[in-house]
Amino acid sequence: MKLWQKVLIGFLIGAILGLFIPQLAALKPVGDLFIRLIKMLIAPMVFASLVVGASSIGDIRKLGRVGGKTIVYFLLTTAIAIVIGIIIALIMQPGAGFILTEVGEYEAAPIPNIIDVFLDMVPTNIIDSLATDNMLQIIVAALFVGIGATMVGDKGKPFLAFCESLAETMYTITGMIMNLAPYAAGALMAWVTATSGADVLLPLAKALLAVYIANILHAALVYSGAVYFFAKINPMDFFRGMFEAWAVAFTTCSSAATLPVSMRNAQENLGVPSEISSFVQPLGATINMDGTAIYQGVCAYFIAQVYGIQLGLPQYLMIILTATLASIGTAGVPGAGMIMLSMVLQAVGLPLEGILLIAGVDRIFDMIRTSMNILGDAAGAIVVATTEEGLETSVTSGAEIGG
Ligand code: ASP
Repeated sequence: MKLWQKVLIGFLIGAILGLFIPQLAALKPVGDLFIRLIKMLIAPMVFASLVVGASSIGDIRKLGRVGGKTIVYFLLTTAIAIVIGIIIALIMQPGAGFILTEVGEYEAAPIPNIIDVFLDMVPTNIIDSLATDNMLQIIVAALFVGIGATMVGDKGKPFLAFCESLAETMYTITGMIMNLAPYAAGALMAWVTATSGADVLLPLAKALLAVYIANILHAALVYSGAVYFFAKINPMDFFRGMFEAWAVAFTTCSSAATLPVSMRNAQENLGVPSEISSFVQPLGATINMDGTAIYQGVCAYFIAQVYGIQLGLPQYLMIILTATLASIGTAGVPGAGMIMLSMVLQAVGLPLEGILLIAGVDRIFDMIRTSMNILGDAAGAIVVATTEEGLETSVTSGAEIGG
């Protein structure tokens, strides 16, 4: 049996058993163990593979071009995601008929200052960036180191060979750890269904449904369209090739923790060249969050509705703008998108306490948004790769997927 099939089975068994046996919530440490193991690899893997990637991209102009395309793709797909989210919310009216009782108080996350955001991308101490898993700083440092090592010439070669070996080692360990994924997925799903239960979901079912539908629609339209039109990849092959990463993201709710798996899937199953994958995907796991943006759009609408606040065009535009910014600023860790939702609400003038309404089921929102976040990064890597040197193996030609 292929690994992704085992992950799917573990996932379903966990979800079903958790509904009936609440004690299974105690299995959470199995999932936590898996997350810790994967996290162990992130900093060295991103740094080493991006150094190698930057050196193999070689000339700075090409690097700039790849970077430019990546950012345009990220911004565009995120804005489309929010629009889809808002349209679905408008159609489904998730907050209609909801009567709001006192929910307490909530404080907004500060709106980040754009200059500080840029300055903060530049590390003052590379070791510190690695030690704290600061992805944007690691990316900037690795780009410089990769270019520098190439410019050094012969003397840079042993260092590049070292980074290559380090990156390969991290990939291999990722593969080993993935054997634990079916059990981890089962344990985490059992914990979710055992702790949230079916009835907690009922009052918020419509909002959840709206977010799930908008996400699935976004994947079906935007990601399928992107991989098909740019790379002629059958969308089903794309989703199947990324399934392990999707399942890991769905259960761990962390794009950052899923990164080693999603890079491995994109490279091995979909033929994304490693120098593109190691640039686009870590950057995407940090700043490209389509699922989060959809969630923020739908929830802003939902909260406005339950408070009886009418939104007009300026408010919708504000939601699109701030949710795009908020999703860039959202860290790839569980629950981060909900904290950044406060920034959107604040900007639009909606009551922050609305967040407390959805907080109880945020994990269930988080599962779909995180899993879409990483799919968006992978689709982006495919799009960028095909506009550069192309994919390495053609999955359309029947290459083996998964397992
Ligand atoms: N958990 C999400 C992620 O890691 C971020 C979020 O909370 O929206 O991509």
